[in-house]
Amino acid sequence: MKLIEPDWAAPQNVKAFFTCRSGGFSEGPYLSLNLGDHVNDDPKIVHMNRSLLPLPAEPNYFEQIHGTTCVHADLADQGEKADGAFTRRSKKVLVVLVADCLPVLFTDEAGTTVAVAHAGWKGLAHGILNQTVKALESESLIAWLGPCIGPCHYVVREDVVSRFASHLGFERLSSESWKMDLSMIARTQLIELGVEVFGGGFCTFCDEKMFYSFRRDGCTGRMGAYIWLE
Ligand SMILES: [Zn+2]
Repeated sequence: MKLIEPDWAAPQNVKAFFTCRSGGFSEGPYLSLNLGDHVNDDPKIVHMNRSLLPLPAEPNYFEQIHGTTCVHADLADQGEKADGAFTRRSKKVLVVLVADCLPVLFTDEAGTTVAVAHAGWKGLAHGILNQTVKALESESLIAWLGPCIGPCHYVVREDVVSRFASHLGFERLSSESWKMDLSMIARTQLIELGVEVFGGGFCTFCDEKMFYSFRRDGCTGRMGAYIWLE
């Protein structure tokens, strides 16, 4: 199993990792550490894959709907609709599942709170990062941007660009198409919210061995970004 540990200025009691696709039991297009139980992989195998992860407790897997709701994970039910979650409780594990969308992990300099957010273009356009930062009610937040589809492989149309107030993070390719840089847009939004930002730089589409990519493969697995307080 290959796990990416965030390189960020989080305190020692904040634990986090991002899973890559190797080291699990799934086969075919899901090869091999698929953690998504909503992508037609065998649910038993997904459960086996999830149980391999070095976590202190079973996380709540919320239903991600490209929305802007950030829930208090201690009060939310398993399977509740949410694209962000936070906690201040020890060993309460938070997760978002992705295959091209941007996963964002949060903590603060004191290590008293952690959060996750699932940020695709819709989430970024409608304010999932803003809602997550608001929910945390903490000064001195830091964030880590996990692997997502890079501008090298992400082309969108005018209808996506027009949802954003600024063209920062977009580069025009033709009269109808634009390159979109999810990480750059997230970084810009977070800096404006006063958050210190780390990470970014991986493209899920570029590295077939390491990452699932929905835009590359269509039918594929999901990777997880996990965070908890020790
Ligand atoms: Zn790429």
